[in-house]
Amino acid sequence: MFSQVIESVLSRTEEIGRFDPSGRSRTGRLLEKSARGERLSPDEIVELMNASRDEKNRALILDFSARYRRPRSGDILLLPPLYFSSICENTCLYCDFSRHRGDCLSPEEFLEEFEALLDSGYRSIELVSSQDPDLYVRQGLPESPDQEYDIERVLEYFAAARRMLDERGGGMLTSNIPPLDRKSFRRLKSAGLDCYLSWLETFHPGQYRLLHPQPGPKSTQAFRLDAFERAVGAGIGRLAGAFLKGLYDWRKEEAVLYCLDTYLKRETGRGFSIIGTPRLKGNFCREPFIRPYVVSDRDYELNIALDRILFDGVLWLQTREDYLFNKRLIDRYGAGVILTIDCSTAPGGYRNRPKARAQFPVHRRRLAETVAGLEGDGYRVIFDWDGDTLDDFQRRN
Ligand code: SF4
Repeated sequence: MFSQVIESVLSRTEEIGRFDPSGRSRTGRLLEKSARGERLSPDEIVELMNASRDEKNRALILDFSARYRRPRSGDILLLPPLYFSSICENTCLYCDFSRHRGDCLSPEEFLEEFEALLDSGYRSIELVSSQDPDLYVRQGLPESPDQEYDIERVLEYFAAARRMLDERGGGMLTSNIPPLDRKSFRRLKSAGLDCYLSWLETFHPGQYRLLHPQPGPKSTQAFRLDAFERAVGAGIGRLAGAFLKGLYDWRKEEAVLYCLDTYLKRETGRGFSIIGTPRLKGNFCREPFIRPYVVSDRDYELNIALDRILFDGVLWLQTREDYLFNKRLIDRYGAGVILTIDCSTAPGGYRNRPKARAQFPVHRRRLAETVAGLEGDGYRVIFDWDGDTLDDFQRRN
């Protein structure tokens, strides 16, 4: 399990920033190697991320990435989230759901919201929920490294979504839900889940503990880190991963994410199909233990440029970022990405008004107008896609 090897990964990635950056020609060779689809060794990814601190290397990486074409570089996949609960028993310090009363959609409300997304043309939808204790009913101790859940009610949302999708010709369901035990993953897969997504927040154990100080399901980092392996073991065919940019040194986090992707490929035969790009926004960025790690727009762009070269999985540009910023990234580096244009980060918000707060503010755009603008610029925007389409966007060696 990755939690058993992360310490040795961290002992290398923590070296980033502690030695002189390599020169341009060596940095170029590392970029070429990754662009050919060869894996970088742990020492090489550390060297590359350390090299990215140098201004000349930064310019080299941005130019290299802008010239580098990924598969389907004129095509954009659309993916909206649908939150079905925001009631949460965790108390992550960076999340508004931990401080406010949440809401859980009734089955009828869920069907209405899901139908609203289908009526907009979407056929690939991310189902999202917080750690609602009435949905994820714990069996045993919360801090146990072997958490087990009864997810009977969660299955109802997924089964209903799958049924409605299939009635409209099929599509893809992605989950953004708490990590689960293998048996629950198996049941979710049977109910129609195609892609398991988890944002790892931060990999750094000390920072992770600071950000999740209360005992609870999420305070056990290992259970989260190992969820991908349990999901693959349960037969779920696609994975999506990311760290939350701004909780810790993004260069070190990027190197660990890369090592995790390598590890998953080696141990399970499956790496990440989707690489998320969430960046922390809002007042929390001013907290003293977070402030040193704020990711500027400049560094965010560098991180995106590197993602394109390092990972086979598809980048997902999200509504935490301003649309025009995402559009500029697409224009400079090419499409071949997933994009969210209009979204609600509270339960409800598509057909009906949400009854509770959003998880974080988002940049919402009018869907039809924005899609028309993208098409006018020559991009092909795809609402109707499934796992096979996603596979087609993967970089292949
Ligand atoms: S980040 Fe997720 S687990 Fe943490 S409080 Fe928010 S919804 Fe709950």
